[in-house]
Amino acid sequence: MNPEKIPSEKTEKKDSRTLKGMRDIFGDEYYAYQGFYEKATEIAIYYGFQPIETPVLEEESLFISGVGEGTDIVDKEIYAFKTKGGDRVALRPEGTVSIMRAYFENGFQSQPQPVMLYFYGPLFRHDKPQRGRYREFRQFDLEIIGTSKSIADAMIIKLSLLILEEAGLKNLKLELNSIGDKECRTEYRKELVSYYKKHLKDVCGDCRERLKTNPLRLLDCKNPECQPIKNEAPNAISFLCTPCKAHFKELLEYLEMMEITYEINHNLVRGLDYYSRTVFEISNRDDGPEASALAGGGRYDYLARRLGSKRDTPAVGGAIGVDRVLLSTGATTPHSRLLKKPKVFFIQLSFDAKLKSMQVIEILRKAKVPLAQSISKDSLATQLAIAERLKVPYTIILGQREALENTVIVRNMNNRSQEVMPIKELGEYLKNLK
Ligand code: AMP
Repeated sequence: MNPEKIPSEKTEKKDSRTLKGMRDIFGDEYYAYQGFYEKATEIAIYYGFQPIETPVLEEESLFISGVGEGTDIVDKEIYAFKTKGGDRVALRPEGTVSIMRAYFENGFQSQPQPVMLYFYGPLFRHDKPQRGRYREFRQFDLEIIGTSKSIADAMIIKLSLLILEEAGLKNLKLELNSIGDKECRTEYRKELVSYYKKHLKDVCGDCRERLKTNPLRLLDCKNPECQPIKNEAPNAISFLCTPCKAHFKELLEYLEMMEITYEINHNLVRGLDYYSRTVFEISNRDDGPEASALAGGGRYDYLARRLGSKRDTPAVGGAIGVDRVLLSTGATTPHSRLLKKPKVFFIQLSFDAKLKSMQVIEILRKAKVPLAQSISKDSLATQLAIAERLKVPYTIILGQREALENTVIVRNMNNRSQEVMPIKELGEYLKNLK
C-alpha cells in the first residue's frame, strides 16, 4: 500500500459492518453450508447433472429481458448500477436466467439434449431483511434444458424433495400448479383480468397495480382483504389446452408412481414472467402455517426466446434456498467431509521446535491424520489444557531436545503413557493407532 494512503487515526473508520441483509458465515455454520452443498452436489451428480458456475455480475439487460419488467425482482429488488466504465450491470438476483445465457453462449445447444446442470452460490435481492430473508442469500439450483418431456419436471421435483429430506426435513409439503402455455394462458389471463375488474373496489392498491402490470401476480397477494376475491378467482388448470393438460396429467402420474404426495394450489403462479406449465413450491409443515417456501421452480419454455434465441428451447428447473433450509425445523445437515475431528494435538515447545513444525504437519497430512494445534502458544501446560478441552486421544510433543534428535513424544491422553518416536515414522504410527 502507498504509505501516503494509510488512513490517519482520525479519519480511520472504526466500525465497518456488513451491509444490511448480508452477513459473514464461519465456524460450524460455514461447515453446515459446506455439508449441504456436498450432499446436494452428490445427489445431483448421481442423477446425471453437471456443474456450472456463472458470474455474480451480469449485464442488467439480461435480467430485464429474462425475468421481466413488472416483477418484484426487476422493479424493486435488483442491485443494478453503472460501472466506472459506464456499463449497466446487475448482481444476479436469481440463477436460471444466467444459466440459460450460459447454455447458448457456450454452445450447450449442440450437445445431446437435454443438458442437465446444477449450480450453487450467492444471489442478491434488495428485499426487506427478516429471518430467512436476506439481501445476499444462497441457492442450490437444478436445471434441465432442452426437453419439454414431463419426466424432466418430475425429476426436478423429486430431486428437490430428496435434497431437502437429506438435509433432515421430514414433513415436506409440495404444492403444484400448471399455468399453461402461450395459448391457454392468454385465455386464462383475460378471464382473470375481467374477473378482477368486476371486484376492483374490494382489492388492495397493490392488486389494482398488478392488474395493469402482471395480472397473474394477483394470485400472489397475501393481503387479508383480498383473500375472498382471490379464493373465488378463476383457476388456471380449468383453462389448460389439451397438450398442457396431458403434460400436467403425466407429471402427476410420475409423482404418484414415486409416492410423492402433492397439493394442487390454484393460487401458485410464482410471479416471474418466464414460467409456463408446471410451477411448484416446497415448504416444511413443521415450520408452522405461515412457513415460507424452502424451494420453488417450474418450467420455463419461453425463456430462451426472451433472451434472443431463434429456437424454442423448453426447460424446467428448481431452486432450493439454502439459508432457509438450514434454519428450517429439524434441519440436520451432514457435516462437511472436509471437516475432520482431530485425532492429534500438536504441541510445539521452543523456537527450534516451531522451525520443524510444518515438516511434522505435512507428514501427518500425507498420512491423513487430522490434527489441531495452537501455533502461538509456548507453554506445555497451556497447550495440554487445550488438547484436554478438545478431547483429542493423542498429543505429540516437539520440544527443543526432540527437535535436535528428529523425534517427537507421542502421548496417549487417556492413560497418559508416552513414547518417543522418530519423526519419519510418525505418519505410519499415528495412522494405525485407534
Ligand atoms: P425464488 O427464486 O424466489 O423462487 O426462490 C427460491 C427459493 O430461494 C425460495 O423458496 C427461498 O427458499 C429462497 N429465497 C428466495 N429469496 C430469498 C431471500 N431473500 N433470502 C433467503 N432465501 C431466499
